[in-house]
Amino acid sequence: MLIKNAKIVLLDGVRDGDILVKNGKIVRIAENIPADGEKEKIDASGLYAFPGLIDMHVHLREPGYEYKEDIQSGSEAAVHGGFTQVCCMPNTNPVADNKAVVGYIRRRGEEVGLCKVRPIGAITRGEKGAELADIGEMKAEGAVALSDDGVSVVNSRLMRLAMEYASGFGMVCLCHCEDKVLADGGVVNEGYNSTLTGLKGIPRAAEDIMIARDICLAQSLDVPVHICHVSTYSGVQLIRAAKAGGVKVTAETCPHYYAATDDIIRGFSTDTKVNPPIREERDRQALLEGLKDGTIDCIVTDHAPHHKNDKDVEYDLAAFGISGIETSFGFAITYLYKTGILTLSEIADKMSRNPARILGLEGGELKEGAAADILLADLDKKWTVDPAAFRSKGKNTPFAGYELCGEAVCTIVDGKIKYRREN
Ligand SMILES: [Zn+2]
Ligand SMILES: [Zn+2]
Repeated sequence: MLIKNAKIVLLDGVRDGDILVKNGKIVRIAENIPADGEKEKIDASGLYAFPGLIDMHVHLREPGYEYKEDIQSGSEAAVHGGFTQVCCMPNTNPVADNKAVVGYIRRRGEEVGLCKVRPIGAITRGEKGAELADIGEMKAEGAVALSDDGVSVVNSRLMRLAMEYASGFGMVCLCHCEDKVLADGGVVNEGYNSTLTGLKGIPRAAEDIMIARDICLAQSLDVPVHICHVSTYSGVQLIRAAKAGGVKVTAETCPHYYAATDDIIRGFSTDTKVNPPIREERDRQALLEGLKDGTIDCIVTDHAPHHKNDKDVEYDLAAFGISGIETSFGFAITYLYKTGILTLSEIADKMSRNPARILGLEGGELKEGAAADILLADLDKKWTVDPAAFRSKGKNTPFAGYELCGEAVCTIVDGKIKYRREN
């Protein structure tokens, strides 16, 4: 395959040129590569070539909740959104806390054969927080990280043990930070809008306390730890201070935290219900600052597809989560690049290179010798978010009708086109 005339997003900037792909690998990147009988020639004039996006935090719902999403529909949604690799959380049914379920997810992803599907194993059996899962066996079956996402491991001694074991296997714990007792059944951010709506609030401290605890554990063991979906300004401060102090902490946030505020809950749409909750302008600004200064390493979607029935109920009863994998790239271009907050190279870092580096995955960079996981994108294309057009079974987004800029035109995995925009 020969990709001609792309604007290639490299570590240190954007360069015009061509990309030659052979046997699934990038073999050459240069200003002008003459055609030499390649079977596939792509004219990428006007398009940007990014390293294939990597989402290290998605929920694909299979096995057990296929009515919400499955590995087929989730993979279709991923490549439609420009992602070539996704890491899926273990809160399935049964929970991915053993080699059988982890192996099933990995093989199912290979069978579907669209994006690369990397399973994340549970930290504790059944995500119940009582005893450690079979970490070594899951690693051998292809688990790329450990997480009890959805809940925190409340028992600090067990969490410490998990971090110790994980690091012994070269893995990192991805921490969902939430003190459930303090959150006390809340459904939105605690603040002006929770008072206004009468919906029960979740204080920032419910998140920050667990971020602080997990930083303390990582510091005492001198092992890496990764903080999931940071939503609070105070969480950003904790992580920034820990990094400055030499703690091996990395962190992620999501488009709904850096692009929106909890003003959107005022219409009582349950599609705005997500955990942790969307917070206030102060938090949004801190997250943008954290993305800019490197405190926040990654942008993930926390893609959490749900069935209509899970959301079409009273706010208090609705499921938490946003279906986000098909809008994430548009949000990054619209809210981070077009506003001058991040460069394209920095966006590629947050959405590909850093996730690859933190989890030890292939990809993450366009360079000779790397797997040919490539996103060709049109950054000037304006489009309107329409959940009906999602490939995901989950149509639950609070951003329907939003005007975004930038979309995937062609998603290439191991040198094969897995998605191509029509017309
Ligand atoms: Zn979570
Ligand atoms: Zn999640």
